[in-house]
Amino acid sequence: MEAKPENLQQLKDKVAVVTGGSRGIGKATALALAAEGANVVVNYASSSTAADDVVKTIQEMGGEAVAVQADVSNAEQVDALVKATTEKWGKIDVWVNNAGITRDTLLLRMKPQDWQAVIDLNLTGVFLCTRAVSKLMLKKKTGRIINIASVAGQMGNPGQANYSAAKAGVIGFTKTVAKELASRGVTVNAVAPGFIETDMTEGLAAEEILKAIPLGRYGKAEEVAGLIRFLAADPAAAYITGQTFNVDGGMVMA
Ligand code: NAP
Repeated sequence: MEAKPENLQQLKDKVAVVTGGSRGIGKATALALAAEGANVVVNYASSSTAADDVVKTIQEMGGEAVAVQADVSNAEQVDALVKATTEKWGKIDVWVNNAGITRDTLLLRMKPQDWQAVIDLNLTGVFLCTRAVSKLMLKKKTGRIINIASVAGQMGNPGQANYSAAKAGVIGFTKTVAKELASRGVTVNAVAPGFIETDMTEGLAAEEILKAIPLGRYGKAEEVAGLIRFLAADPAAAYITGQTFNVDGGMVMA
């Protein structure tokens, strides 16, 4: 991804944290925010080499980035991620709740631990991160929080009772928190991707899925990152809050 000349960058001097920034949509988001001039924290759980590669790419673009390991389903590690960011750059302007996992299986085969692992990261993790960062944003009376939901949370998807419950939860959470934080200049929005080419969707039965996508193809991580970049931009997206935007090739049409 090419960086823009500095005077055209919409996130110059902003600080952005992308949870799960080492791979997939998070990686594309980290690169897109950096291309707009943001200093980026690339959070990851275990892929330190992949996270370091994202940082290196941003530095080669002339940007600034740092990789920070933290399991965002753990409150103490979330606090440490916030602290590492503020120690490095003194503030947080944009927070992208992107980290997510799947543990797909049909309801009757779903073990409580399959349910819990997905809820812990995909829903509780969003709560823990949003609570931690909103404390800082409320004080500064400005900030952008962008939550990655999914079409599964809107239309359901067999084999994903845990995942669709978590993602529907993220959409409801986004609306409530948007209302709570709006008076202090903090916006909260959700992005609901359809099927995007990443490690998460590798090996899914493509033919069946493609029939349900009007545009007839999987999306690319960069196509989701483009919307996230817009929602982070100031003033372009300053008057948008509590919304869920689909990037799904037309799967969900409201
Ligand atoms: P992915 O390629 O599997 O990447 C997942 C990312 O999450 C990785 O960076 C991973 O870090 C990180 N992660 C996993 N567990 C974590 C934890 N406990 N703490 C912090 N980070 C953690 O996934 P993706 O397809 O890009 O998905 C990104 C987001 O989009 C997820 O919320 C997903 O539910 C959502 N989404 C994806 C699709 C799709 O079709 N791909 C569709 C709808 C929604 P490591 O590299 O260290 O493991």
